Amino acid sequence: MVDLIIRNARIVDGSGAASYNADVAIENGVITQIGSLATVEAKETIDASGKVLAPGFIDIHTHSDTSLLVDSRAQSHMQQGVTTEVLGQCGGSMVPRNVAMAEASKAMQQRMNPKAEPFMGTTTAEYIAELEQRGISPNAIFITGQGNARQMVMNFEDGPANTEQLEQMKAIIRQSMQEGSFGISTGLIYTPSVYAEVDEITELAKVAAEYKGIYFTHIRGENDTVVEAVAEALEIGRRAKIPVQISHLKAMGKHMWGTSKTILKMIDDAHAEGIDVAFDQYPYTAAACGLDAVLPPWASIGGKAKMVERLQNPEERARMFVDVTAENGTGEWISIYKGVGWENIMITGYSPDLTLEGKMIAEIAKEWNMDPWDVCCELLIRNKGERVSIVYFAMGEEDLERIMVHPLQMVGSDTGAVGGEPGPGKPHPRAFGSFASILGKFVREKKLLTLEEAVRKMSSAQANRMGLSDRGLIRSGYKADLVLFDPETIGGPADYLNPRQYAVGVEGVWVNGVLTIWQGEHTGAKAGQVLRPQNVNLD
Ligand SMILES: [Zn+2]
Repeated sequence: MVDLIIRNARIVDGSGAASYNADVAIENGVITQIGSLATVEAKETIDASGKVLAPGFIDIHTHSDTSLLVDSRAQSHMQQGVTTEVLGQCGGSMVPRNVAMAEASKAMQQRMNPKAEPFMGTTTAEYIAELEQRGISPNAIFITGQGNARQMVMNFEDGPANTEQLEQMKAIIRQSMQEGSFGISTGLIYTPSVYAEVDEITELAKVAAEYKGIYFTHIRGENDTVVEAVAEALEIGRRAKIPVQISHLKAMGKHMWGTSKTILKMIDDAHAEGIDVAFDQYPYTAAACGLDAVLPPWASIGGKAKMVERLQNPEERARMFVDVTAENGTGEWISIYKGVGWENIMITGYSPDLTLEGKMIAEIAKEWNMDPWDVCCELLIRNKGERVSIVYFAMGEEDLERIMVHPLQMVGSDTGAVGGEPGPGKPHPRAFGSFASILGKFVREKKLLTLEEAVRKMSSAQANRMGLSDRGLIRSGYKADLVLFDPETIGGPADYLNPRQYAVGVEGVWVNGVLTIWQGEHTGAKAGQVLRPQNVNLD
């Protein structure tokens, strides 16, 4: 007798092949039979007539590093059918870190869950062990932030690493790879990641490549310099002989709309040349980050307190304004402000004054009778340099769709999983709807993708990328990470003003064969595993 049979489902198996109807049997967390299983007995049976059964979705780009520690349920992602989270993106992971960095993360952990004991470990092994010991609902894959290694060795110092510093960083990456990391990530608009140039990153990527790692990159520019930034990512792939995953691919700023054609062509050419490049994307035209990302990188050298000091100094503030609004930026950096404007930057998380959340900076400027740039500075100063969360409407719908249908695109939410209960701040709706809204808006309503192709971009595309040979498809012998949903109703109703809305139309989600979401309720199951790289010789 098997544990579970899901009967009469329309199987969208994750490969992109045409769907078919079948029963699926699960035993000990593994898919054991697929077909007409009328005579097979099961402890539990679910009739899935009219529903689609697909492999659990793999969110290849998350920031759930802290949220999984403080709340293992990962609800905003799992309610859409996500069963695996890829952590450590955009240059910043929880570990490796030094004691000072661990101390700095304590407050955030306590804020997110006052009841949970803060995790104070410093190594990848300790972090993975902690996740395993606390238990997690989805599976997790760890990626090492290059920014972590740099901060440990050079703190927020600008300029290239010297030989000794580079060796120290390489050793940090090496240890993390040996302890279970699947690759490294950079966030080349964020400090201290941004201070690293191509040679330094290439050397670190070579270490990751020795362990069959992947180079994930939030590239150095997503607006005016997006073409150069894509070229840099490809160059690192070429020189370090490492697979390159460009994170949340886009072209930002009205003046750059249409550039997706150029960058997709570059990616196709690189692929043809033999560089193993792919990319991920979330299906929204607004991006999210911290308001300090509007400022030139020099404004943050030395950390938050230094940044606030500079913002309070009229001369430095004026210098920043020149850089922020310069047509060509500083030469090597251009503010996200360009091609967006204050009327398209929305405050979504501001703990000193919750009434500002949901308002555009231009709107606040009117209310305060102040210049919008001064509002921007004031918000950062009043929050003592702590994160002021924003979304900014910068992408064009045509680019979004052109990138989405490209065969090398896969879906990644670029968010930490959060709960749907009311809370401070407005997370980007992509935390609640990236996967579900593709299946609703772009598959069912706009018919931009077939259901089969969309599911492939959420499951086997990622599994292949991460070298997982037993997930991402509905096949006999594969792990029973599964999502059952109604193709007629699935969708992501979350929006910018009311983002904390779970996906609709998802019936059930199983992780390693264990039911974790059923009709909108989380069962409390913690059947997720921290996955380890497969086929890597760690000696
Ligand atoms: Zn990023």
